Amino acid sequence: MTSTRPRTERGTHREQRERVAALHAELVRSELVTWTSGNVSERVPGEDLFVIKGSGVSYDDLTWECITVCGLDGTPVDGVMKPSSDTGAHAYVYRHLPHVGGQVHTHSPYATAWAARGEEIPCVLTAMADEFGGPVPVGTFALIGDDSIGRAVVEMLSGSRSPAVLMQNHGVFTIGPSARAAVKAAVMTEDVARTVHLARQLGEPVPMRPQDVDACWTRYQNVYGQ
Ligand SMILES: [Zn+2]
Repeated sequence: MTSTRPRTERGTHREQRERVAALHAELVRSELVTWTSGNVSERVPGEDLFVIKGSGVSYDDLTWECITVCGLDGTPVDGVMKPSSDTGAHAYVYRHLPHVGGQVHTHSPYATAWAARGEEIPCVLTAMADEFGGPVPVGTFALIGDDSIGRAVVEMLSGSRSPAVLMQNHGVFTIGPSARAAVKAAVMTEDVARTVHLARQLGEPVPMRPQDVDACWTRYQNVYGQ
């Protein structure tokens, strides 16, 4: 990931790159990102590849050409831009969780405030039970640059109902069957992080009974699940 340019510039997977480029606008619309932070990636169906935002791209300038195609080891194979500095983490998750089709990373403010405290978001809202099936967990501190973040994301989300994890002192990583689903999880994570934070300002939120969390989760996944 040290080269500034990938090996080839063939313009492959253009439709998917256009779609993933456009999805980044949802991060801006929902105020989940500032400057160039944050990224969306998506697995290329049937190939050992994924597409991810280029490093340091302004959201206003994000076209399909700013989306780089990478192998599952994180090596760029097509595109004119060096991929996001989080590419190694995304690659690790795609290699280890075959059901994951899309991922999002943000430093969205309310969720990242929970991450800064190393505190999971407790499940105290039916909307949380619906989407997350319990609390939003926190992964241990990990530095960018090797497999540490990817390992922690896999460790926290394997076998978890939650499609989101807060990485301590860092931010939010979400997964989904598609990039769009992972974006939705990122938006919902910030939404519940904000609401539970507001509740905390008024006092201690009332915990939900586990059986009620389960009932919400089951109903919601059956009605709206993939
Ligand atoms: Zn980050």
